[in-house]
Amino acid sequence: MTELKVLITREQITKRVAELGAEITRDFAGQQVVLLGVLKGAAIFLADLARQLDLDATFDFIGVSSYGNRPSPSQELKSGWDSTGEVRLTKDVDQTMKDKNVIVVEDILDTGLTLTYLKKLLVARQPRTLKIAALLDKPSRRKMPLEGDYVGFKIPDEFVVGYGLDYAERYRNLADICVVPRV
Ligand code: 5GP
Repeated sequence: MTELKVLITREQITKRVAELGAEITRDFAGQQVVLLGVLKGAAIFLADLARQLDLDATFDFIGVSSYGNRPSPSQELKSGWDSTGEVRLTKDVDQTMKDKNVIVVEDILDTGLTLTYLKKLLVARQPRTLKIAALLDKPSRRKMPLEGDYVGFKIPDEFVVGYGLDYAERYRNLADICVVPRV
C-alpha cells in the first residue's frame, strides 16, 4: 500500500458536521428523529452528527451489501467498480419506521445504487419524512438520479478512506479522510 494523502482534515470534518447538525436541528425543531446509519462506514459520522443535534433522537442501523461483480480491493482502486445494481439487505432495522422522521446516515454517495435501493425499501414502510445525510458525495460517478438532503463535501472521483471508510476493512479509524493513490 502506497502513502495516503489527506483530502479532508479532521478540523474541516468537525466544522462541517457541526453545520449539518445545525441545519438538521433547524429543519426538525421540536420533533423526534431516527438516525438510521448504514453499516459500517457511517458509524463514525453518525456518532459525531448525533452529538451536534439538539433534538430528541434515536439510533438504528441497517446493513447492505452489493451482489455481483465487486472486484478485489486492489482492482477496485485501479478502475473503480460497477455494482450490478443488485443490493442485498444484510441487517434490517430494529424499530418500525412508520410515521417517523427518518434520516438515513451514509458515508458516501457514489453511483447512488445503494441509497436508491434503501430509499425504495424505506418508503414502503411509510415514514413521515425520509431524508438522506451523506458525509461525502462523488457526483461524477452517479448512475441513479439521487441527491442527498444534507451533504458534507462533494469530492472528485477518488477512492477515499478514513472517518469510517475502509479499504479491505482497514483505515476506518483514521481521523482525516484520505485518498488512496491509484496504482
Ligand atoms: P453507491 O451504491 O452509491 O455506488 O455506493 C455507496 C457505497 O460504496 C458506500 O457506502 C461505500 O461503501 C462504497 N464506496 C463508494 N466510494 C467509496 C470510496 O471512495 N471509498 C470507500 N471506502 N468506499 C466507497
